[in-house]
Amino acid sequence: MRCPPPTLAEDAHTGLDDFLPCMLNFAVYHFFRGIRLMRRKFIAGNWKTNLTRDESVALASGLAEKVGSASSVDVAVCPPSVYLDCVAAAVSGSAVALGAQNVYHAGNGAYTGELSTCMLKDVGCDFVILGHSERRHILGESNRDVNLKVLAVIEAGLVPILCVGETLEEREAGKTRDIVAEQYIGSLAGLSAEQAAGVVVAYEPVWAIGTGKVASPEQAEEVHADLRSLIESRYNAEVASKVRIQYGGSVKPDNAAELLSQPNIDGALVGGASLKVEHFMGIIDAA
Ligand code: PEP
Repeated sequence: MRCPPPTLAEDAHTGLDDFLPCMLNFAVYHFFRGIRLMRRKFIAGNWKTNLTRDESVALASGLAEKVGSASSVDVAVCPPSVYLDCVAAAVSGSAVALGAQNVYHAGNGAYTGELSTCMLKDVGCDFVILGHSERRHILGESNRDVNLKVLAVIEAGLVPILCVGETLEEREAGKTRDIVAEQYIGSLAGLSAEQAAGVVVAYEPVWAIGTGKVASPEQAEEVHADLRSLIESRYNAEVASKVRIQYGGSVKPDNAAELLSQPNIDGALVGGASLKVEHFMGIIDAA
């Protein structure tokens, strides 16, 4: 039986058998709505292959000092892997969490040049960016590759930040929704609903990354809302209401507030503007 939350007038004409399911729907509706409203904003910085060791420590220390030991939004930095250890020390005791930019899906062993999830945990990571468009388009990662990594990261108790997004050509061909759906579904194959609820998704239109061209709040919100509907149809309403969907693509202090005020935008994955304390803090403060 499907019914909207009952009105008082309807209640007067409803028998108990009808009334109880209605009340249940009403409670479930508000329970999930409450969860949606409780999604904490999450701002993460992707440093890519920028900065020296000293610059990384200075940036991390500056952020740790400004953010302090408690924050109303979740904050993470994802330095190059070679600097994870020193950045971990610099943010220790603050509310700034640590993330990696990639990982290999297999455990420790004969995988020259790769990093395992155990190593990331060992240096204090909580998050791992996976499926970034630079890895998909420059390094040739497929949805299957990303899927193996997502599974390994979850198995290790880390949180994936799964990036999805269309190229300009795909957007102009009207394929945005299909590309985003294909990347989301392919990258999360084999996950339970509970596991899917814990994956942070970053919608990053490729044409907006590092280009200074930001998606308008309406363009971004449209894709985020579509993604949330996809998550609901693939899993359920509870999962859809829990998943945090970040926007990424030329987010700056002066455009962050409008993007982050959209109902389905739960944070930002920030490249260029995460490399300076005042810029990144401007985005955190706008959240
Ligand atoms: C990114 O690389 O994830 C990104 C969003 O970069 P930028 O903010 O520089 O566009």
